[in-house]
Amino acid sequence: MASPSKDTRSLKICIIGAGMGGLTCALALAKDGFENIHVYETASNLGTVPGRWMAGWMRWHGMAGSMLIGERAIEGATDTELANVDLGYIEETYHYPHMVGHRHSLANGLYNGCLAQKAITFHFRTGVQRVLSFAPNPSFTAVPRPRDGGSGEPAPDPYTVTCDILLAADGIKSVARVDMLKALNHTASVIDSQQAAYRIMLTREQMECDADLLALIDAEAVTRWIGERRHIIAYPVSNKRIYNLSTTQPDVNFAAAPSETYTTQGSKSAMLEVFGDFCPLVLKMLNMVPEGEVCEWKLRIHEPLQTWIAGSVALVGDACHPTLPHMAQGAAQAIEDGAVLGAVLAQLVDASPESINKTLRVYEKIRKERAEMLVELAAASARNLHLGEGKAKEERDRMFKELREKGGKAPVPDKWADADVQKIVYGVDCVKIARENFTDMYNSI
Ligand SMILES: Cc1cc2nc3c(=O)[nH]c(=O)nc-3n(C[C@H](O)[C@H](O)[C@H](O)COP(=O)(O)OP(=O)(O)OC[C@H]3O[C@@H](n4cnc5c(N)ncnc54)[C@H](O)[C@@H]3O)c2cc1C
Repeated sequence: MASPSKDTRSLKICIIGAGMGGLTCALALAKDGFENIHVYETASNLGTVPGRWMAGWMRWHGMAGSMLIGERAIEGATDTELANVDLGYIEETYHYPHMVGHRHSLANGLYNGCLAQKAITFHFRTGVQRVLSFAPNPSFTAVPRPRDGGSGEPAPDPYTVTCDILLAADGIKSVARVDMLKALNHTASVIDSQQAAYRIMLTREQMECDADLLALIDAEAVTRWIGERRHIIAYPVSNKRIYNLSTTQPDVNFAAAPSETYTTQGSKSAMLEVFGDFCPLVLKMLNMVPEGEVCEWKLRIHEPLQTWIAGSVALVGDACHPTLPHMAQGAAQAIEDGAVLGAVLAQLVDASPESINKTLRVYEKIRKERAEMLVELAAASARNLHLGEGKAKEERDRMFKELREKGGKAPVPDKWADADVQKIVYGVDCVKIARENFTDMYNSI
C-alpha cells in the first residue's frame, strides 16, 4: 500500500460535510498517512436515519448491525408473497454477510474512527457558504453558527479558509456543486422524481404485543410490500430493537413547493389514505406512528454532472451523484468515494496543483461511471416497482412468479435483490482498483 511522501503528507486537506462521504474521506486520508485534515460541518451532531449496506464497512470500525438472509416481496393489498430471495449466498460469495444497521451506528463508528486520528480536526457548527476559488489553492467562506440553547453569545465572524485540496461532501444540496457548475460554466438541473417517502421507526415494545408484528421484527429479512405506484420496505435494526419502515409514493405534498424543500412534517391521516388499500398488517404498523411524528421526504436527484473536479476541488457522494434510495447505495457509494480518494491521494507524485488535479481526475475516472450506473439502476428499480395496472405490471408479476418457481434463481424485478446486480455492487473492489491501476490511469490523463 502506497503512503504519501514527505512533500505531500502535510498538505492541508479540507472536507465540507461530516456525513457518510466526508467522514470516510477524513478517515481514509488519515489512515493513508495525511497529517493535516480539517472537516467543516454545519450540524452540531450526526444524523439518525437507518440504512442498508454490506458488512465490510461496518466491520471497519466494529459497528453493530442485524444480519439479513432474505428479501421477501409481498403484494401490498393482499399480503401474498410474490417472491422470497435468499441472501445467504452473499457471505459465501463476497466474504461478508448482508447486514442492515442504524445510520447513526454507522456514522458514529466512522466518527469514532476519526476521533482516534490526531490528523483530523473537526469544525462543527460551521457551514461553508461559498467556494471562492478552485485553483491553484482552493478557498472558501466558513460561517460559524451561534451555540445551541440560545446563550445569547454572538456567533464568531465568518472567515476565509485556504487549503491545498478541498473535498466537498456537502450532500444533495451542495453549495460547492453550485459554485463549481458556475465556475466551469456547466449546467445540471435537479430532476424531480415525482416520488416522496415516509420514514417510520417502531420500537420493539410497540410491536411485541402482537404476534404477527413480533414475527416481523424477529425475521432475518427485508420485507417489501408492493402496491400500485407505491411500496414499503421494512427491516429490523439496532439488534432488533427498532423496526424501520421506508415508504415510496407519488409526490403530492411537495409538487407545488419551492425546489429547495426536501422534508416536511406529514399528516398521519394523509399517510393512512395513501396506503389505505394495503393489508391490515401494514395498516396496523402505520397506525402506530404517533400523530405529529410523520416525516415525509421529497426524493430528488440531479442530472449527471460533466465533471466532479475543478482545479484542486473534488465533489463527493450526494453532492455529485444523489440517488433514489431503491438500491440502498447512496451512503455506500459516498463511502466508496471517500475510500478511493484516500487510495489515490496516497499516491500523489508531488504537491503541485497540476499533480493534485490529475490525481483527482483518476478518482473521477474510477468512480463516476460506476456511481452513475447505480443511480440509473435505482431509478430502473423504481420504474419496475411502481407500476400501475396493465401489461408492464403483468410482466413484472410474471418475473416474480418465475423467481418463485425457480427457487430464487431468476432475474428479480427489484434490482437491489438481483444476484447479477449484486455482483456489480458487491463484487467490485474500488480501492483495489485504485491501488493497482493508479499509475496507468494517471499516465493516461
Ligand atoms: C429516504 C432515504 C432513504 C435512504 N436509504 C439509504 C440506505 O438504506 N442505504 C444507503 O446506502 N443510503 C440510503 N440513503 C442515501 C444516503 O442517506 C445518502 O446517499 C448519503 O447520506 C450521502 O452521503 P453524503 O456524505 O454524500 O451526504 P450526507 O450524508 O447528506 O452528508 C452531508 C453532510 O454535509 C453537511 N453539510 C451540508 N451542507 C454543508 C455546508 N454548506 N457546510 C458544512 N456542512 C454542510 C450536512 O449537515 C451533512 O452532515 C437514503 C436516502 C433517503 C432520502
